[in-house]
Amino acid sequence: MIETRDLVHRYGDEAALDGVSTRIDDGEFVVLAGPNGSGKTTLVRHFNGLLEPDSGTVEVDETDVFADLVAARTEVGMVFQTPRDCFVAATVAADVAFGPENLGLPRADIDRRVEAALAAVELDGYGERRIDRLSGGERARVAIAGALAMEPSHLVLDEPFTGLDWPARESVLDRLEALHDAGTSVVVVTHDLRDVVSLADRIAVMSAGRVVRTGTPDAVLPDLDDRGVRRP
Ligand code: ADP
Ligand code: MG
Repeated sequence: MIETRDLVHRYGDEAALDGVSTRIDDGEFVVLAGPNGSGKTTLVRHFNGLLEPDSGTVEVDETDVFADLVAARTEVGMVFQTPRDCFVAATVAADVAFGPENLGLPRADIDRRVEAALAAVELDGYGERRIDRLSGGERARVAIAGALAMEPSHLVLDEPFTGLDWPARESVLDRLEALHDAGTSVVVVTHDLRDVVSLADRIAVMSAGRVVRTGTPDAVLPDLDDRGVRRP
């Protein structure tokens, strides 16, 4: 479970998060929607301690993120916007291994995790391929595999469909559905709800640094017209 209470984040004088209390349950599939600048990226970067609250708290499994940063970073896997900028190695397996290597795991465990993570995104056998030769959709799935290699209980993806063509988008959606079915909680940040909403247990809508609406897709979608969110 990820839980924020009265979370405030300021950049200079501007409050990008203005008192956010929200909760992601284990196994839940949540779409975090809202217009550009509403605070979505800032919020999810608090989920694993990439940002520090100005006030309020963030807990992962009932432990404050900064009381155990390694646990938070292990339990909450993060896939960033524009994955092409965030690969650390030239080949697929080396990149996916990076997180588990930093945990100091034995080589055999690392290799097992890399294999399992690549299988989960249907890139079995891609380990030695060069990332710069992959398609956009394949790269997006490598980025997801990198997060999965940490064996997180929550997977958070910030605008994972940006720059992907339709088949690539479908392949990522398909993998997210399978991960959710296998018990991982999935948080997808997006301003474009096409297709992803059919997978969601819940939509949370942000506006001006607050979560202004949360509920099932059926309950929330009719209210979205004026919130700058592209409806399906
Ligand atoms: P979203 O992901 O919903 O587009 P962000 O969390 O990126 O929203 O941004 C929320 C607000 O914080 C916006 O007004 C944005 O301009 C501002 N902001 C985001 N990142 C920074 C930063 N690094 N420095 C200053 N202001 C920022
Ligand atoms: Mg953003």
